[in-house]
Parts: sequence; C-alpha cells; structure tokens
Amino acid sequence: MSEKKKIIIAGGGIAGLGAGIYARLAGYEADIYEKNPIAGGQCMGWSRKGCHIDNCIHWLTGTKKGTALRRVWETVGALEEHTKFADCDSFYTSIAGDSHVTLWKDLERTEAEFLQLSPEDEKEIKKFIEHVKYAAECEIPAEKPMDAMGIGDYIRMGASMADMPKVTKEYGSIDLQEMAGRFKHPALKVLFTDYMPKEYVASSFLVSYAAMASGNGEIPLGGSLAMTNRMVKRFQQLGGILHCNAPVSKILIKNKKAVGIETADKKTVLADYVISSVDTMEMFCNLIGKEYMDEKWQSCYKDTDKYPLFSAVQAAFMVDQSAYDEKGTIFFDCLPFETGGKKVDRISVKSYEYEPEFAPMGKTVLQVNVPQFDKEYLYWKALSKEEYENQKKEAIRVIEERLFAQFPKLRGHMEFLDCWTPITYEKYCNAYHGAYMSFITRKGVKPFRVKGMIKGVKNLYIASQWIMAPGGLPVAVTAGKFAVWRIARKDRGNRH
Ligand SMILES: Cc1cc2nc3c(=O)[nH]c(=O)nc-3n(C[C@H](O)[C@H](O)[C@H](O)COP(=O)(O)OP(=O)(O)OC[C@H]3O[C@@H](n4cnc5c(N)ncnc54)[C@H](O)[C@@H]3O)c2cc1C
Repeated sequence: MSEKKKIIIAGGGIAGLGAGIYARLAGYEADIYEKNPIAGGQCMGWSRKGCHIDNCIHWLTGTKKGTALRRVWETVGALEEHTKFADCDSFYTSIAGDSHVTLWKDLERTEAEFLQLSPEDEKEIKKFIEHVKYAAECEIPAEKPMDAMGIGDYIRMGASMADMPKVTKEYGSIDLQEMAGRFKHPALKVLFTDYMPKEYVASSFLVSYAAMASGNGEIPLGGSLAMTNRMVKRFQQLGGILHCNAPVSKILIKNKKAVGIETADKKTVLADYVISSVDTMEMFCNLIGKEYMDEKWQSCYKDTDKYPLFSAVQAAFMVDQSAYDEKGTIFFDCLPFETGGKKVDRISVKSYEYEPEFAPMGKTVLQVNVPQFDKEYLYWKALSKEEYENQKKEAIRVIEERLFAQFPKLRGHMEFLDCWTPITYEKYCNAYHGAYMSFITRKGVKPFRVKGMIKGVKNLYIASQWIMAPGGLPVAVTAGKFAVWRIARKDRGNRH
C-alpha cells in the first residue's frame, strides 16, 4: 500500500482487538475507540479485597498447537510461547442425590465411571463417548470466512472433519433436554442439562466437551484479563492506537459510505473504513440507526423463543482453602429461591484453586453462577435502583445460605466479594439483554450467521461475536480477522 489507509474500530473487546491487530498486520492505520477505561469487553476480570475475579474464560477453544485457530490466538498475542494453561482435569461435576458424576478430561475415566454408575445406560454412554471423540475434530473456520471458501477449502475441511457428520446426525437435531432423556439414571439426566441451557442443540455440548477432553479447550493461566492485556500489548507494539474512555456515539455515513465516527464528546474522526465491534444492537440502535437492520437481524432479535439469549446472576466469595475440599465446577440442588423473577433450585460453583495469584495465601475464590434469560433481564431492568440493590442483596444472602447448606465447612470461612447481574453486562459492555454469548442455537432452527456487512453501506464491517452463533471468544477473534480480510480483499480490487 503506497499511502496507509485508516481503519477505525468502534469497541475494544476481543473482536475489536483482533480486528485492530490484523489491520496493523495488513498495513492499515488502526485506531480502536473503547468506551471503558480498559479494553477487553466481556473478556474481563477485576479486583476486590485483594482477590481477582475472572469474568470470562471457562475454556478457550483453539489451544491445540497446529490448529488454524491456535495460529490466530498466537497471531493476536492471546497465547504466547510461554503461556501456561490451568491444570484442570474435569469439565464439571454434577451432584444429583447421592451421586457425584464428573465429565473428566480423560474420556476413558468418564466412560468407566458412567458405566459403573449406570450399567443399564451402557448403549447411550458408549455412543456418547464415541461421538465426543468424533467431535474433537470440529473446528470453526479460522483462515477465511465461510462464504469466501472455495471448493478446495470445503474438500480440505470435509477431510479434516470426516467424522463430524456422525455427530450432527446423532446429536444435531435434539436439544440437551432430549439428550438427557435418553439416559435412565437420574444423575446422568441431570448432568447433561447442567452446563449449557437445556435449549441448546446437543451437538454444541459434545463439541465443547470434546474441545476440553482433546486438549483444544484450555484455560490460559492469568485468566481473561491477562489474555486481553496480551492482545492490547500486541496491538500497541504493532503501532495501533487504543483510545479508552472514548465512547463512539455515531458511525458517520455519507452517500451510503461509512466515512468515520463521532465520539461522545462530539469529535469527528474520519477514516477509510469503519469496523463496528460493539454489541450489534448498540450499533443498530445508537451508532447507525435501526433502519439499517435487515429482516434477518430483526426476526432473530424479535423471536426470543427461537433465538433465546442467556446471561447470569453471579456472586464471588473468598474462602479459606482449608474449608473447601472440592475442585473445579460443581452443580448441586438447593432449596428453591427466586432471582430475576425466576425460580431456581440448582446452582453451580466454580473454584479458582488453580490460580494461586487470584487470592491471598491460604484462600481461594469461589464463583456462583445462576443462569438468566431474556425474561429475567427484563425483570431486572424494570426494577428501580433501590429495588435492584435490594434484590441483589437478597440474591447474595440466599446464595451464601445455599453454599453453607451444601458445604457446611464454609460457614465462618467465607467472605463476600462481589455480585453482578445481566444489567451489569448491559451497563459495562452495552450487551443486549446482558447476553454473554450470541443467539442460542436450538434444535430445528438454523444457526444464526451473517457476513458482517450492512446492505447499502460501503466501507462498514461488523466484527463481533454476534455475527455467528453461538458467539464466544473464537467467533469474536475470527470476526475481527475476517473483517480486515474483507477490507484487504476489496483494496486488492476484488469484490466484497
Ligand atoms: C460470564 C461469561 C463467561 C464466558 N465464558 C466464555 C468461555 O468460557 N469461552 C468463550 O469462548 N467465551 C466465553 N464468554 C463469551 C465471551 O466473553 C464473548 O464471546 C466475547 O468476549 C465477546 O467479544 P466481542 O468483542 O464480540 O464483544 P464485547 O466483549 O461485548 O466487546 C464489545 C466492546 O465494545 C465496547 N463498546 C460498547 N459500546 C460502545 C460504544 N458506543 N463506543 C465504544 N465502545 C463501546 C464495550 O465496552 C466492549 O469493550 C463468556 C462471557 C461471559 C460474560
């Protein structure tokens, strides 16, 4: 490129940082405008009372060396040569009645324990394990966008995922509720609806567990904030400029072409291209105008039955290690309570014992997660400030009680750190309905996917987890890469 063209990126989450890094690598000037004091968006962590609370990474898909996604994570600096991973041996454990059932990283161990627990489920157990092994092949496109793939790319993809159609055939048209129903043992039934919303298509669950079990879904030590910071460092080392505390109030469109942005403090910044990496509803409603939202977006946002969104009420505690004997993530039944207007009788707690830096010596951080959906978001949203604070306090009180009931040794050894709700994600990231992933893929519903361009507007691209269900970090980072890929291709004289 003789004269450097400039790309402005609105939003500095993983998609925005990914876009910024690939823009610099492709020779563009790149400026990111982020509304918060630090970049990262939902891939975030924060401090309370000498502890670190990690908001995001429960697993990072694409950690296996040699995969296309791992190369992307390395290119953006999220994973460096010396990045270490948490030593976790299980996906999670479900407690149901007297049974403790664990999905181990070691599939043979999972199979053996399941068979011992429920010999009468042998056929389903063996089928499940066999298909998890097949699902380990599943990779999201990370070289170029799917719509740009040619016949050769599809042949290569088909060959590298030869067994994946078996997973889709067996588990792609049922949801997790139905999958659970195939098992006879009550603890196994419960296990399969614990981790992801029961509305999720079952194959998504197999793919997630397979990533973890095959070493392609690990937790980089230091957690979400450390990973974000590595990407910020990479962006800045490449010469990118990150503007924090810099909300974008408008993407400027002139003669059907994006020409720059207006910041909240009324500054106009011109650019050759704009990449929107903010939540897509924020983009449509506030940055470009809802008239640009086409039918596909409209119908998905409107139909919350077909395209539900999920979030959570979460609470973090510092506990004495000596008072907590468990590891990993555990789901358990509890006395029913209401939060966000929803009756809850089962919650999960995750222990961060694998991150000694997250708490003072002898302590560990525990985080409780209570799932919430669109309806609960609306409930929280309708509360006055005072009611909101009161209901949060009540949620904390009840969660503490439920933890003590399940783990009596914790009483007297646990200190509250923080509690956050779907409204927190809305406030902090402008996340639509507080959602932390994109639209849930339900059985029988086509997974949401768009190219990331706006019909009738040139030079505007979307890089966000929202452009491909189910969202998440891999979708976010590749969306950033692909937006720049499209821009560079256009500049080389090819079509969009
Ligand atoms: C509790 C939780 C757990 C998760 N666990 C996992 C996991 O284990 N694995 C996984 O893959 N994914 C996980 N995710 C999802 C993952 O965090 C997201 O998919 C990803 O971070 C989304 O990145 P993004 O850049 O698309 O969006 P965001 O992170 O939302 O980034 C958008 C950015 O735009 C900024 N912004 C918004 N409006 C404006 C404006 N007007 N002007 C300027 N800036 C603006 C926001 O502040 C934000 O920084 C989890 C999310 C949560 C909340």
